[in-house]
Formats: sequence, C-alpha cells, structure tokens
Amino acid sequence: MSKIEWLEQEIEGLKEAGLYNNIRTLSSPQGAWLVVDGKKVLNFCSNNYLGLANHPKIVDAVQKATEIYGVGPGAVRSIAGTMDIHIELEKRLAAFKGVEAAITFQSGFNANLATIPALVGKEDVIFSDRLNHASIIDGCRLSGAKIIAYEHNSPESLEDAIDENLSQYRRALIVSDGVFSMDGDIAPLPALYEVAKKYDILLMVDDAHGEGVLGKGGRGIVDHFGLHGKVEIEVGTMSKAFGVMGGVVAGDKVIVEWLRQRGRPFLFSSAVTVPDAAACLAAVDLLEESTELVDLLWDNARYFKAEMQKLGFDTGASETPITPVMLGEAPLAQQFSRALYEAGVFAMAIGFPTVPQGKARIRVMISAAHSKDDLDQGLEAFAKVGTNLGVIQ
Ligand SMILES: *Cc1c(COP(=O)(O)O)cnc(C)c1O
Repeated sequence: MSKIEWLEQEIEGLKEAGLYNNIRTLSSPQGAWLVVDGKKVLNFCSNNYLGLANHPKIVDAVQKATEIYGVGPGAVRSIAGTMDIHIELEKRLAAFKGVEAAITFQSGFNANLATIPALVGKEDVIFSDRLNHASIIDGCRLSGAKIIAYEHNSPESLEDAIDENLSQYRRALIVSDGVFSMDGDIAPLPALYEVAKKYDILLMVDDAHGEGVLGKGGRGIVDHFGLHGKVEIEVGTMSKAFGVMGGVVAGDKVIVEWLRQRGRPFLFSSAVTVPDAAACLAAVDLLEESTELVDLLWDNARYFKAEMQKLGFDTGASETPITPVMLGEAPLAQQFSRALYEAGVFAMAIGFPTVPQGKARIRVMISAAHSKDDLDQGLEAFAKVGTNLGVIQ
C-alpha cells in the first residue's frame, strides 16, 4: 500500500461531501468584474472592499517606488530588511489609527502568529471567542498557553470563563475578531473592554474585516466604538480593504517595541516587498484624503442586503458589507455557486470547516467598486438561481 493512499481517500471524501475546494484562476485585475477561466464574471468574492487592489494612484506609487528602491527587501527586518518606506508606513498607520505605535508584518495571519506567542506562554491563559479566525487559533496554539473559548460575542460567557479560571494562571489575554468574516457580525467591543478593565487583562482585537470598513473613513472597530486608547492591541491586514498585502499591529508602544524584539515572523521571515509597502502607503493616502469610497461601500452594502431580503433570502446576522446567503447543506451551496457562475456571477460557496456543519452558505462580498447596475445584475442572477433551486419562492 502506498504511503499516501490515505490522502487520496481523504480527497475523495471531501469531493463526496461537497467540501472540496475548486480553486478558480483569474486572468484580470481585481475589480467589479473578473476574467475567470476565460469568462467575464461579476466579482462577488473578493475582500477588495474599496476597489483599491487596482487603483491607478496605487499602481503609480508602486512604479515610482520600484524606480527608487527596486523590489526585494533583501533580508529579515531585524538584519538588513528595514527600508525607510517600511518605517514610514508604520508611522502613517499609527497616525491613521490614532494609536501610539504600529508594526507591520507580511500578512494578517503572520501578525497573529507573531503577537499572541510574544505576549502569553505556558503559564498563561487566553480567552478566545469561539468563532475566532484560524490565524488567531493558530497563534493561540503556538503560544502554549491554556486556551479557553467563550461563547461567540458573549461578554457574559467571557466573564464566567474568567471567574472560573483566571486565578490558576500567571497572565491572561482576551482576543476576538472585530468583524467575523463568515457572518459579518461585529464583536461587542465596548462590553469586552469593560470585562478586560474589570479583571485587568490585555485586550486584543483582530480587525481584518473592519480596517478600511468600520469607523470614520475606515479607521476600524476601535474608532467605530470610540474606544481610542482602551484596546491595547489592534491587529489589522492590508490584504482586504487596503487592496494590497501585509499585516499590522497597532496600539500600545511598549507592546509594539516588544514585538520588534520577539515577534517570530518579524525576526525570521523577510519584510514585505517594496511594491507592497509603497502600495500600502498610497492606500493610507487615499483613505486619509476622503471618506468617499468607504461611504460608497456602505451604500452598496445596504442596497444589496435590503434587496436580497426582499427577494426572500436569509442574509444571517450581518452588520457589515459581508453578506452571507444562508443555504444549509454544503452540496446545495456548491450547486448554487456553480449555477451563479453559469449566470455570470462569481460567488463562492463556503462550507465546513470554515463554517459549522449545516451552515453552508454563499458569501457575497460587496465593494465600492460595484456600480448600481452591477449590483442589479447580481440580484437578478440570485433571483433566478434561487427560484430554480427552490431556495426562494
Ligand atoms: C483575513 C483575515 C486574516 C488574514 O489576513 P491576511 O493578511 O490575508 O493574512 C486574519 N484575521 C482575520 C480575522 C481575517 O479575516
């Protein structure tokens, strides 16, 4: 028997369960429309909330920066890979977020892997929302700390867990997604802050889907709730609304200083490239210049969600532009996604383990790049496929 036969069986099992990822190939920039496997389709999949992934000012900034700095950073940040544009980006991000300091990483995933193990270890405890992102879960596991999952978005459950466990550990950390990426609901950060304050525990929020979306001009969840100076650690990503790639930790300056000394992905993996850093800087410029794109994103999101509900779709608990279309079983969600694709709409089915069993869905990602006409075409396709598959009347 071959040593990898079990893998073939596992893969076959995924296909039978409707859980196999069929990854499409794009041959166009990210925008409202994409060319996917040679076909022009409406883009309802990407996290390019503000349409910055292919913004002319950002592309221009990248060209100018590469003329000055070339492309590669050459080394890890702590050896010879920190260029002045990396530092400038961190200063600009800190100012944008209204915090003392910021440090950037290669991705949001890496930001979590860097931060959590640097702050807690074997003798410590982490209180983590049950539905936190995989990168938080992995960061928690890497730290070796005891992980206690509290009920999703429940400050009461968090407080119970703290009461029961805190005394057995040296230090603690509370961590939550800001916006939950599969449901689009928002963490009750003011209540989490009250609990963190009462027990004197560090509070960390991962605002990957709130950056560029929530708060004034996209300044994120802390700004949205007016909690400036109260959340010690704000993780963010530049791969979503910023339209580029990269992670950031913004907040207390001592924590940022510590991450420069002890954040392992910072110390052992090279810096983001010149084009990444330059593009992120240009994205901050655009966000600081005007709230127009963020406002447009919200207008589009409100319109699409309201029309979907009128059609009879269940859009779950979303409070943000993330629009889940709840379908139940994974094979139905996959069938729905394939039919949408035939109708010219690219929207992915999401099933277990990304969401719980029986909670499969199509997740529609609305963007400021969509015109009203684009949204109407999408709604028409949803109405047709939904009726054909018996999801709506
Ligand atoms: C997308 C996401 C990440 C990962 O961000 P990348 O920059 O793509 O690595 C981390 N945390 C949360 C909550 C996310 O939604």
